[in-house]
Amino acid sequence: MEKKYTIMVTVAAGLESVVGQELKNMGYDVRVDNYRVFFEGTQADILRANLWLRTADRVKIVIGSFEAKTFEELFQGIKALPVEDYLNYDSEFPVAGRSRNSALHSVPDVQSITKKAIVQKLQEAYHVRTRLPENGFFAQLEVMISKDQVMLTLDTTGPSLFKRGYRVEKGPAPLKENFAAALILLTNWNKDMPFVDPTCGSGTLPIEAALIGRNLAPGLTRTFDIEKMDWFDHELSDTIRDEAEDKADYDSELNIKGYDVDARMVKIAQENAKHAGLSQDITFGHMDLADWYPEEEAGVLVSNPPYGERMGELEAAEELYKTMGILYKPLKHWSKYILTSDLNFEKAYGQKATKKRKLYNGQLRVDYFQYWAKPNFKK
Ligand code: SAH
Repeated sequence: MEKKYTIMVTVAAGLESVVGQELKNMGYDVRVDNYRVFFEGTQADILRANLWLRTADRVKIVIGSFEAKTFEELFQGIKALPVEDYLNYDSEFPVAGRSRNSALHSVPDVQSITKKAIVQKLQEAYHVRTRLPENGFFAQLEVMISKDQVMLTLDTTGPSLFKRGYRVEKGPAPLKENFAAALILLTNWNKDMPFVDPTCGSGTLPIEAALIGRNLAPGLTRTFDIEKMDWFDHELSDTIRDEAEDKADYDSELNIKGYDVDARMVKIAQENAKHAGLSQDITFGHMDLADWYPEEEAGVLVSNPPYGERMGELEAAEELYKTMGILYKPLKHWSKYILTSDLNFEKAYGQKATKKRKLYNGQLRVDYFQYWAKPNFKK
């Protein structure tokens, strides 16, 4: 039988259930925890997760876990793990470390003891008596201790999954691509509905919407660390990537628009969309949101407006929220989703949200204010 791995997908705070749902939609049984989601899968599944997950950070393999309260237990526990299944005698393997609520709290010591134990294990497994060269394939390990439970993981992703590779320029306040995708997956939007972002900046939301609408795997334009590892079945790279390309939907008509009051940002958004191969799928325009009125009776609007975080800018931001309220409230069949850190948003907008969701935009605590549409039965 094909080997199964325990896979740990790491996630930004607040998005665990979104990543869990993405994996369930891919057909996996998941266990959702804080900042991470676990599932069991083959090498093909690991590559699929890297290619397809829109809202996760990284896909890691759990090499093993055990309890340790002393450095000796840590050393022996690590040495007992099958690290030689994942590392060659010449692999370059930095060991990152973390410790929380544990007897072994000195992270540098935990890291160096883990490294020592792995070096010894590899020397024995590969019959090498000299120093390990570490000039082979790259394998980022991490040793994590929480309540004396040690877990050793191997990163299969490389640069975080939010780095899709399409962004050429970003402007002053870009959303991370995986966070933008999550904001969209939290709405009721689907590819047959109009989508508009009235404050699009560098275009992250419209671009992620187009990727979702076209059913394009966000990782198709990049590679992952696992694809360079010796023990990985390299034929899978072609098979799983071909499988992903076959799933793309180039036929549906998309109606995705992005506007910004700053003409330079519109140019940047157009460049980024072009780089993502989505120029034909998104209409970007230079417009003040006060001048927008939808042609369509129903649709979904997602906005990441200025938050007024910097001194003296709050008033202007709240003035903008007020304008939004005046314009958007009458659009009964449009769902509106607005992200901001301003706790006074609803007051400025002039309407209580149907639902609020607590999220983190990077380090910043924000709320996702949702105004759900009334059903449009005429459709
Ligand atoms: N989500 C974007 C960042 C948006 S930052 C990204 O990922 O890049 C907020 C944007 O709102 C800025 O680009 C700013 O130019 C724009 N903005 C501010 N006031 C506006 C207005 N009145 N109408 C339209 N856009 C506005």
